[in-house]
Amino acid sequence: CGIVGYVGDRQAAPILLDGLSKLEYRGYDSAGMSVRNGAAAAEIVKAKGRLKVLAEKTNDGKTLLGDCGIGHTRWATHGEPSVENAHPHCSDDGNVVAVHNGIIENYQELKDKLTRKGYQFYSATDTEVAVKLIDYYYKKYVGTPVDALNHAMIRIRGSYALAVMFKDYPEEIYVARKDSPMILGLGEGESYLASDVPAILKYTRKVYYIGNLEIGRLEKGKITFYNLDGDEIEKELTEIKWDA
Ligand code: GLU
Repeated sequence: CGIVGYVGDRQAAPILLDGLSKLEYRGYDSAGMSVRNGAAAAEIVKAKGRLKVLAEKTNDGKTLLGDCGIGHTRWATHGEPSVENAHPHCSDDGNVVAVHNGIIENYQELKDKLTRKGYQFYSATDTEVAVKLIDYYYKKYVGTPVDALNHAMIRIRGSYALAVMFKDYPEEIYVARKDSPMILGLGEGESYLASDVPAILKYTRKVYYIGNLEIGRLEKGKITFYNLDGDEIEKELTEIKWDA
């Protein structure tokens, strides 16, 4: 339902909690975030219920160290509200960690395919299927995150705004989108992503709007866009003039 992401020189978790709180008005049933500290594996913390519970679990984000992370408030569509079904979701070896807004319509078909390939599932969500599909393509083609996301986007039917971290790419966050809102924000030596502007307005007013079936790659203070062919595309930076 709500998505926030950050990569820069500051601690990510407090920024994620703050951003998610600006999206609370949209409603949700659980929340979670994943933060990475350099090349170390991403840590994931999830909570059922209010954002306050997630904040308490992490001492307002202070116990979750790292300068790159993604956060989510979930409005369940596939699987009951629970800690297990809350986002972020990850592949078994932690290669791919992601949050998702929207609905993967053909998730059952994809889940069956991945199960035949040896994947197991711990949640009832459509999102976990998308995460494991991205992991599958990443490994199958020994590719880049952009390749893996493009292969997954071609197979997935439905709507999604995805924010994804790959183990081999510390201090980078990837975004893929179709029919679900997502914006990217640029700061001084830092980059943001959010499902809606109010989440990041306090930090930056410079935003990019990412189109359908496009990929965004966030690094500290740099955002690059790619089309479904994996070619780099140009985007215009927009200045937000209004206040939340
Ligand atoms: N379909 C996903 C789920 O049920 C995402 C829901 C959302 O947009 O929050 O977990």
